[in-house]
Amino acid sequence: MEKILVTSALTYANGKLHIGHVAGSYLNADIFVRYQKLIGNDVIYIGGTDDYGTPISLKAEEEGVAPRIIAERYNKSIKKDLQGLNIQLDNFSGTSRPRHIKISQDFFTNLLEAGYVTKKTLKQLYDKKYKRFLADRYIEGICPYCKSDGARGDQCDNCGKLIDAINLIEPKSKISGETPIIKETTHWYLNLPKFENELREWLKIKTYWKDNVRNFIFSWLNEGLKERAITRDLDWGVPIPLENTKGKVLYVWFDAPIGYISSTQEWAENKGQPDLWKDYWLNPNTKLIHFLGKDNIPFHTIIWPSMLMKQKYPYVLPYDVPANEFLNLEGQKMSTSHNWTVWVEDYLKYFNGELLRYVLAANAPETKDSDFCWKDFQAKINNELNNILGNLANRTFIFAQKCFNGKISKPEVLSEQSQQTLNEACKIADYIGGSYNNYQVRKASRLAMDIARIGNKYFDETQPWFEVKKSKKIAEETLYVCTELLRIISIVYSPIIPKGMKKLRKMINLPGKISWKDLDKKQIKFEISEVSQLFKKIEDKEIEKQLELLKATQTVEEKIMEHG
Ligand SMILES: [Zn+2]
Repeated sequence: MEKILVTSALTYANGKLHIGHVAGSYLNADIFVRYQKLIGNDVIYIGGTDDYGTPISLKAEEEGVAPRIIAERYNKSIKKDLQGLNIQLDNFSGTSRPRHIKISQDFFTNLLEAGYVTKKTLKQLYDKKYKRFLADRYIEGICPYCKSDGARGDQCDNCGKLIDAINLIEPKSKISGETPIIKETTHWYLNLPKFENELREWLKIKTYWKDNVRNFIFSWLNEGLKERAITRDLDWGVPIPLENTKGKVLYVWFDAPIGYISSTQEWAENKGQPDLWKDYWLNPNTKLIHFLGKDNIPFHTIIWPSMLMKQKYPYVLPYDVPANEFLNLEGQKMSTSHNWTVWVEDYLKYFNGELLRYVLAANAPETKDSDFCWKDFQAKINNELNNILGNLANRTFIFAQKCFNGKISKPEVLSEQSQQTLNEACKIADYIGGSYNNYQVRKASRLAMDIARIGNKYFDETQPWFEVKKSKKIAEETLYVCTELLRIISIVYSPIIPKGMKKLRKMINLPGKISWKDLDKKQIKFEISEVSQLFKKIEDKEIEKQLELLKATQTVEEKIMEHG
């Protein structure tokens, strides 16, 4: 039995859950975890919200509430939406909770004492009206190189050059619209160059990582690592544990991954075994697997392992970081600031969570960006889930009830065609297991649907509706084989569409609790109970409505919603 600790990237608590989050790091993790449980591994799935940073404190000021209120509001909303999609985390915490503060401060102190953190004084732009230093994305001005307007504090989109914010011509604060002043400040930097050799050594054995992840890491390493500031001047964050540093907090990218540990600690405490988290984090045999979107790769493969290496506790380092690419929407880049996304809460008002699980799994952005289109959503539900899988169940069960009173037995001898059909399904089931294990959700989904395709073809070729008039036995054999295929499908598809497969098993009177080993337990008899439609078809007008809603709520005005 393997010990596996799975995490999904912490979601930023300044907005609701959208399908980009789901496709990027939640659904693939949930499917992986479900599969690992089916094969009997000891796996826990940990997540939560990233509660700190400028956007949350600005939003709180706008609403006249404490930042904690905003963070807690979205923590609750995200948790509820995940449940709506049947994404089952073992714990969902938030980084503004007390235990997280303590452990984040310990991380900082340990790195400082080990000599990996340095203090520096620097000049930064400061908004006098809002009394805060401005992070790069909160400043706009004229590019010092190409003189074009609208360059950000970190980069010019026109010429592509990287900019140091204090060199911008006519800088403006994007919060107040006023001209910021230059002010001196002190920050602490993580000395990443000092980790380079150790990181390279550690990454040597990670040849099994996804190509997109490895390419990303090595391009970072080869450009040369730079020292990175790990503190900010802000009041909403983890205070740094040093004397006379009021108003200095840890930068969100430093404390956010520590949230995986504090969330595991919370899980252990809730279980009444407060030391249980150590069984996972301090166990060299634990496979620590971080699911995330590609924008999070450098944090989890370079900065986070460096932080873990220099702690007093012997933390396990990431075993794998299966990062996904991005999900686009109707051919355009998704954007929460332009409201160009599908919010899970809205989706759930109209459709079942299982359908989204299916479509996002079948179309997962595993090796390149993929696109979510409402018309394609409808096509996948109607043409695949209904016309292939639903059809096989429906025709088999209705026929069984009509001619056999729902009772189907295995014939003493199977025809060669029947035996071949079953063998093929078993072989495919093996491939499906391998695909789940390799984070290939798309492939697993396609292969599982192939079993249903094989079943329909077999049903057509053996013509039970015709055979039954001559020999009930031959017709029964077809129904037996098809039901057996459906039994296999109910196991192999359960990580992706767990509720639908539970319903399917209920129709065949099979127990809801399953294990991957059940694949080998061939049934001798089936008793089909009440038959109902597995999935509902989606009408054109339902899709038209979604497209209208999407376009009607799209906003042109840009708001700054991301981390700062
Ligand atoms: Zn420029």
